Amino acid sequence: MPELDIAIIGAGPAGLAAALRLHQQGFRPRIYETVPELKPLGVGIDVKVYGTKEIEELGLLDEFRAMSVDARTSVFYNKYGQEIYAELCGVHMGYLHEQRFVHRGFLQMLFHKTVLERLGEDAVVQGMRCVRYTNHDGKVTLDLQDTAGNSSQVTADLVIAADGIKSAIRQQMHPDHSEPVYSGITMWRGTTLMEPFADGSTILHIGAPQTSSMIVYPIANDFEGTGKTLVNWVVEATRGESVEDWNQTGTIDEVIHYYDECDVPLLDVQEMMRNAREVYLFPLIRHEPLDNWIDGRVVLIGDAAHAMYPRGGNGACQAIVDGSSLARHLAGAQDVPAALQAFQAERLAAVNGIVMAHRGEGYEVIRRMVEDRTGGERFTDIEEVLPLAEADAIFSEYHARVGQPRTGHEAGEPTGFRTGNAAHGAAVR
Ligand SMILES: Cc1cc2nc3c(=O)[nH]c(=O)nc-3n(C[C@H](O)[C@H](O)[C@H](O)COP(=O)(O)OP(=O)(O)OC[C@H]3O[C@@H](n4cnc5c(N)ncnc54)[C@H](O)[C@@H]3O)c2cc1C
Repeated sequence: MPELDIAIIGAGPAGLAAALRLHQQGFRPRIYETVPELKPLGVGIDVKVYGTKEIEELGLLDEFRAMSVDARTSVFYNKYGQEIYAELCGVHMGYLHEQRFVHRGFLQMLFHKTVLERLGEDAVVQGMRCVRYTNHDGKVTLDLQDTAGNSSQVTADLVIAADGIKSAIRQQMHPDHSEPVYSGITMWRGTTLMEPFADGSTILHIGAPQTSSMIVYPIANDFEGTGKTLVNWVVEATRGESVEDWNQTGTIDEVIHYYDECDVPLLDVQEMMRNAREVYLFPLIRHEPLDNWIDGRVVLIGDAAHAMYPRGGNGACQAIVDGSSLARHLAGAQDVPAALQAFQAERLAAVNGIVMAHRGEGYEVIRRMVEDRTGGERFTDIEEVLPLAEADAIFSEYHARVGQPRTGHEAGEPTGFRTGNAAHGAAVR
């Protein structure tokens, strides 16, 4: 159905990647984006192996590699900085594709630039907010509003709503859907320009989730020619209610004290937090999974369809997979309704499973277990507190659930290790 007239709402990773996938299948969609000028906003995203596969299939692997950092080792510590467990990442673990850390805004800008190059300069209409849709006669009309408040309409054969966590289209499609609920936990998301830590390719998971938890990873080397690395960090802690807005700024004052006794090898986490270039607050809000993403000729994708806690790097990656699946079904199906149903059948239950898995702690639960088993004290031998085999089983179960089963585990081989607090990456089995 290449002559199909397709409108996409939202030029985030979901909308832009969908446009590129549709173009590969012979379509030429047009994107309507509310922001008058896209800027590289956000902080870090952990792109999983299946996300890198998608980016490679878009023909963007070299550019993506140039702007991101290879993920080699993932190391877990208790709140004192004592090592609990480690595993390798991506190709170092035996996967076919790399896991990479990237600045969310840089990835979005790469997709945007590529859409303009491949689909034409007029493929993204900025400063145009979609207010509502109307299905009629096998078509959809969108009510749009520009930045000056002027209204206009466009009509398309298909509308793909990729308008993010606060999706106006989801609200219209599911007016009675339950209100999102604040979990009580907020993320402090920051970046710091600094010397690389460990081997320069390591992600650290620190702390006791009972009180506060921190994730740290590098997202750009030689950032803007400074010779330094841009490091992304996220601290989770309880906090009073706040609004779900990616641009909400905060300070480290409420959380830095949780790390007073933390002495992680090779990194002063408090200094890193004090030297932050920017700090954003993002509350963890529960959106109940939807049981339907389709209304006539309108379909939800990305965060609009399946907002999930931004833990574990699956939000952006699943958003990118949506576009690929939808484009494939549109190219192969008899008509638009059949393509939308096939897309939903392939994606909805699987992604909702990931949404729910992210509500829990996933493999991060090992840090909670260590805190409980030690009564919050330092340990002398981690093997007596959390045997490697027990941790391995938790990790293997999680990786399989999010669609990237670990190689080696089925054969009974140990997949995790302990670095022995040397420069990370040196396995001590
Ligand atoms: C400013 C910003 C910063 C972010 N930073 C991070 C981060 O640091 N780490 C992280 O993990 N995730 C971040 N995210 C979220 C992340 O991009 C998504 O979770 C994921 O990539 C899925 O992308 P998406 O395209 O579905 O949603 P989004 O990335 O939220 O993109 C939605 C797009 O739709 C546009 N839009 C919204 N409503 C309308 C409308 N009515 N009409 C037209 N356009 C509309 C928005 O302006 C936005 O460009 C951020 C999102 C935004 C918008």
